[in-house]
Amino acid sequence: MSAEKVWSECLDFIRSNTSEEIFKTWFKPIKPIKLNGKELTIEVPSQLYYEWLETHYLDLLHSALLKTLGKNAKLLYTVRMSNKTRHRNSKLTYPSAGKPKVDIYNNKPLQNREIKNPFVIPGVEKVKIDSQLNPNYTFENLVEGSNNRLAKNAGLSVASRPGNTPYNPLFIYGGVGLGKTHIANAIGIEIKRRFPDKNVLYVSMEKFTQQYTSSVANHTRDDFIHFYQMVDVLIVDDVQFLAGKIGVQKVFFQIFNHLHLNKKQLIFTSDKSPADMQDVEMRLLSRFKWGLSAMLKQPDFETRKKIILSKLYSDGVQFPEEVIEYIAANVTTNIRELEGVLTSIIAQAAFNHREVNLELAEEVVSNFVRSQKPVYTCDLIKKMVADYFNLELNQLQSKSRKREIVQARQISMYLAKKFTKASLEEIGKKIGNRDHATVIYSMKVVNDLMDTNKKFKRMVKELESRLIDI
Ligand code: ADP
Ligand code: MG
Repeated sequence: MSAEKVWSECLDFIRSNTSEEIFKTWFKPIKPIKLNGKELTIEVPSQLYYEWLETHYLDLLHSALLKTLGKNAKLLYTVRMSNKTRHRNSKLTYPSAGKPKVDIYNNKPLQNREIKNPFVIPGVEKVKIDSQLNPNYTFENLVEGSNNRLAKNAGLSVASRPGNTPYNPLFIYGGVGLGKTHIANAIGIEIKRRFPDKNVLYVSMEKFTQQYTSSVANHTRDDFIHFYQMVDVLIVDDVQFLAGKIGVQKVFFQIFNHLHLNKKQLIFTSDKSPADMQDVEMRLLSRFKWGLSAMLKQPDFETRKKIILSKLYSDGVQFPEEVIEYIAANVTTNIRELEGVLTSIIAQAAFNHREVNLELAEEVVSNFVRSQKPVYTCDLIKKMVADYFNLELNQLQSKSRKREIVQARQISMYLAKKFTKASLEEIGKKIGNRDHATVIYSMKVVNDLMDTNKKFKRMVKELESRLIDI
């Protein structure tokens, strides 16, 4: 028997002994790898996955195996190689720069000089630079939304013609956890992919500062400057850390001018726009504005949903739709927080044997989200809908059968079901004093109308996003 055949029989057994949801989430993504006697090797998408299987479904797996392979059957796992392991392997393997570099001050080939810089891998002939890029932060892994479209597309354009677009420097700014570091790395990775010979260097402003300080202490300031002047693409993350540091601003200015003059690409990120940065020399700030400044904003509801789906997909995990919607509706501030919530839910489920459901999601989210989010109530929703349709609150409560009032009432019920924890009875009671059957019926009407009537759907979505953005 082949590994595929054995595993497919195991799957049949597992499927008939567990729910479809669990089957789809935890067993379908597994790949049979090889069969060695009674030893079956399967591949799981992540370490967490494996741990989850072992804690939750060991008995089930054991029975399935026993049934197909008989006594003494053995199961081995391999974990699909994650980006992280690749990261470790791929360090130091970026190709070297193709053309010989010249020290512009002395007009000597640079490779004859000894350059003391932590990023340089001493080579026989050429100076190689480890790009210091994080290979997990690619454009493929970056979900596009209206919040990052400008920055992403400018980044792509820079990556296709580094140094030759009007976006030099490309200045990406925005609050914490919105993807600045991710995009900056993605641009670097894309440039390396298209132009393997280019020397791309990613550095945080903090690290740059440390290097500068020790170069001053070691009397190697010139080497430090020369090193940075020979890169083709310089990515500096968190340039706001320049603030108040006069010496660093001076060398940074010098490096900037040299690279810009030589049509080298500069990419900067910052938590503030150049206009809002303080304690930075005017001449530097004005240079930051030479190219394009692109702002990253908070992702909207739909984008948050897409980001959640993409993270779950890459972790090989599935959540029920309502859990995804709940997280997207409640974790709004930034993407790092969104990731934190997902990881925490997966961990809770894996280690504490809990099902991924709304209850677990609520618990994790409330521990995570510190910001003061409104608690959605039937009253709040009713008021919002009444305002939207220019109705009085008591019209919604009335017995009126006027079409617009009936519809507003139905939409309120639909939204209340979606946004609150209230039961059907409670919703009916609060909205128009109806029974739970009316609520069910209203939800059906709204769902049906949304399917058939684009305008209606847009209206409901608009109300939803107003609620989400309160
Ligand atoms: P910042 O540098 O702005 O603080 P990061 O780039 O570190 O933010 O992003 C925080 C986390 O969110 C990272 O793990 C990153 O991969 C993820 N992230 C940010 N934007 C997106 C996006 N559009 N799609 C998917 N993941 C994203
Ligand atoms: Mg960052």
